[in-house]
Amino acid sequence: MARVEMKKPSQCTAGPVTSASIRGPLNMLQMIAASSYGPTGRLKHVHNGSGGYVITTSQSSALLSGLSISHPVLQLLVSSVRNHVSHFNDGGLFAVILCCNLIDRCLTLPLSPHKVIAMNKRLLDMCLSYLTSEDCACKLKVDFSCNSSFFDLTRSVLSSKPACMLTIKEVDYISILVVKAFLFKVPLESRSNMILGRTVMVPVEGLSVMESTLVPGVLIEMPGSSWNRILALSDLPPANIKLALFSISMSGDFSDTGDGSVDVVDSVDPEQVMLEQLLALGKQLVDGHVHVLVCAQSIASLSSLSSACYGSLGQISKMSHGNKQYLHLIPSDTSVCSFLLCNRNETSLKELVRVCQTAEHTLNHLLKDPWLLLGGGCTETHLAAYVRYKNANIHSSHLEGQNCSVAEYKLVSDCFSSCLESAARSLEHDGGDSLTDLQDGHVWSIPPNSTLDFNCIETGQKCGCQLLGKGDDMEWSMLGSGHKAFSPRSSTGVSPLLMNKEPLVVDSFTAKYNGLKVAVNTAGLILDLAYVIKDEN
Ligand SMILES: [Zn+2]
Repeated sequence: MARVEMKKPSQCTAGPVTSASIRGPLNMLQMIAASSYGPTGRLKHVHNGSGGYVITTSQSSALLSGLSISHPVLQLLVSSVRNHVSHFNDGGLFAVILCCNLIDRCLTLPLSPHKVIAMNKRLLDMCLSYLTSEDCACKLKVDFSCNSSFFDLTRSVLSSKPACMLTIKEVDYISILVVKAFLFKVPLESRSNMILGRTVMVPVEGLSVMESTLVPGVLIEMPGSSWNRILALSDLPPANIKLALFSISMSGDFSDTGDGSVDVVDSVDPEQVMLEQLLALGKQLVDGHVHVLVCAQSIASLSSLSSACYGSLGQISKMSHGNKQYLHLIPSDTSVCSFLLCNRNETSLKELVRVCQTAEHTLNHLLKDPWLLLGGGCTETHLAAYVRYKNANIHSSHLEGQNCSVAEYKLVSDCFSSCLESAARSLEHDGGDSLTDLQDGHVWSIPPNSTLDFNCIETGQKCGCQLLGKGDDMEWSMLGSGHKAFSPRSSTGVSPLLMNKEPLVVDSFTAKYNGLKVAVNTAGLILDLAYVIKDEN
């Protein structure tokens, strides 16, 4: 007889989003993200208390997937950013920092949440339309006739993750390989339904980073013992070798049932069913004149195959790298390559693989959206200066339908700009300060305990993104001190003499543009929450 249990009532918490209820966990998340941000970001050791997987990282994808969060509001924030990272692979830390700052500071404003949310939305739209406008001075058009934009972006991504433990020379070397792999998979001729090729990462632990290399085709690792039992390569045709490549074990066992269980009907013998399927598949492969069958990756089902699933190889050979042996499948006509990625230990190798995948994704985005944003905090500072300038002399007639006064609008606008500047300041981890110039609105770092006399101030010779060099007649302000509003110069207004020819620090336009949207929209959603309803059954 079934036992009937009374359902527990849902737990309703009214008004969870107040400074007092959220500040602690929000600040913790903000600190984790801000302290990991940028090239000198501090590493985090993520592990499970009961043992198992351990990672050392400062990457948002690894940090956010390693965090178990119980606070419902933070769960919402983290899942929004995880969703962003799963699409764009980059800009996750920026989105977390900006979102946390916005929630924290907006809660202290003496205005109703609805007003704040509506004004933040308007300020976001102002930033997004500036970023997509022709006047925008913090973006750069990608020049496809030379590779420098690709190198700048790749180098910026690789340099921003210190857990890879790369020297400058190694960063340059891996950047070249990442860009080569990207160019390799772009088809030579443009046609409709163009499909990019693929880069398969093959991590090799224990070798120097400088031993990393690119190999056309697919590498499949083979245990040493099977090296001598490998197929007789001499029996294969000299070209057009037909291949079927499987992602599952062909031994008939279930390799991937996850946490689920399999129910078997009494009259069914699973081994017999599997054997029949394997025999049918074998017959199909023989009838289709398939020369080579490999169980590794590509076709994920034992169900009947279309002949379009078979690959065509130009050659098969054996290859060694370090102490590992590989079966080397060399295609005759596709743009697939294997990236043998080496690093000294497991932790730094895993981080390097993640970072190279991020760089690869950001390069892919350039094909759709050929723009870069200035990195090193300059885009955030420049946007903040733009927002301050646009709103400094706003008139009540510009706010029709906004249901707010000019004073209220300026309050929210200042808060929005301060949050952007605060994100730029999060790149500083060694006690230094950040200045902004009052011509272009870029960020300049100064060492700890520097003089605050702006006439003889000792900034670095270049701004955060490395685009601008220091000039004699520049005006300065401490970043975040609420400087006077000024109109940041358009890119054509900057003297070429002030512009460096050095490698630039740049960000992916697509990732940052969407990160900005995710941060402001998620902050608005959280500020708008009135109840949390928790089902305890
Ligand atoms: Zn700059």
